[in-house]
Amino acid sequence: METQTAEAEGWKLDPLNASFLTGIPILAAVGMVWYTMNYGVSSVELGIFGFMYIACGLSITAGYHRLFSHRTHKATWPLRLFYALFGAGAFQNSAIKWCSDHRRHHLVTDSDDDPYTVLKGFFWAHIGWVMVSQEEAVVEKVDDLQDDPILAFQDRHIFLLGFLVGMILPGVAGWYFLGGVAGFLGGFIWGGLFRIVIVHHATFLINSAAHTWGTQPYSTANTSKDSPLLSLFTYGEGYHNFHHTFQADYRNGHKWHHWDPTKWWIRGFSFIKVTSGLHKIPDKTIESRRMKTTYEKIAREENKELQESAMSFVDRLRSSYSQLDAHRKALKDAKQKKTGVSNENRKSMCIDLKHEIKQTKQAIAQIRNEFQQWMNGLPTAA
Ligand SMILES: [Zn+2]
Ligand SMILES: [Zn+2]
Repeated sequence: METQTAEAEGWKLDPLNASFLTGIPILAAVGMVWYTMNYGVSSVELGIFGFMYIACGLSITAGYHRLFSHRTHKATWPLRLFYALFGAGAFQNSAIKWCSDHRRHHLVTDSDDDPYTVLKGFFWAHIGWVMVSQEEAVVEKVDDLQDDPILAFQDRHIFLLGFLVGMILPGVAGWYFLGGVAGFLGGFIWGGLFRIVIVHHATFLINSAAHTWGTQPYSTANTSKDSPLLSLFTYGEGYHNFHHTFQADYRNGHKWHHWDPTKWWIRGFSFIKVTSGLHKIPDKTIESRRMKTTYEKIAREENKELQESAMSFVDRLRSSYSQLDAHRKALKDAKQKKTGVSNENRKSMCIDLKHEIKQTKQAIAQIRNEFQQWMNGLPTAA
């Protein structure tokens, strides 16, 4: 039954991705417990973890996301190479494939064609979509990225690069600083396995949590939300409503005090000319957009009240009309009744009913009148 539904939806389980995404966390957990029990944890393992966490994480946020997907600035080749290598180490596919999905996500957010729409559920947006191969998935244009020899090379050798940079490199660092096979394992487990899991889920949270919880100061056109809390461990990517509204901006947290290490990293490199052409949306555009969205939200809220008032008139009118129908029918029946009721009684019944019909008609006229007055009292659109 489940298979039938899956096939009807046009996707089937991707065994490689599914086993990687479930297997690595298990290996990391078992490995960390085993390693800590046998060798303990020193500042070296934590240092390797920290370096790899920052290098791979920023390669995704500053590299894959803000540079390659959105072209919010330019970067010289050494930095692009760094992003290509450590981005591969993040095990989130090649920049070309990542950006294709991501550009599609922005183009058709929340629609059926959005590869990780949250409208198919939190789990789907978070990790489910990676675990299946979507046969019908549309590939977004990434010619500009294919023209970059660094990214084309990375795309061709993504698994080898990922394995070397994401797993072997931290292992070698552990071997170098701690010595021997145990040192290698320390670096591999902390800087490789554990770090892959953390960076994976930090990225995934942007597709799931940042489309579920938070505020919408700039746009309510889609499910994207601003969440300063999420920004704390996603290198500033939590300001996702701002990002969906102004995707050409190299910042996600646009105010100086917004926690956005990715923007500081990009800006920092601009001082030594490694990055350039940092695109910023003017403050006045951001401000007016914010005001417009606030106004729209209030107007929608008021509209809800207006709609409720209008509905109460509609309800009253409907019930009066059905009363009128009932009285008319009763009157007709009374007029037709020949037996069991004396003429005198029937006459008084008919008078009563006629009276009720008259009253109901008056009630309807009153509702119409009140409705008209209510309409006249409505503020006209400015
Ligand atoms: Zn984006
Ligand atoms: Zn998004």
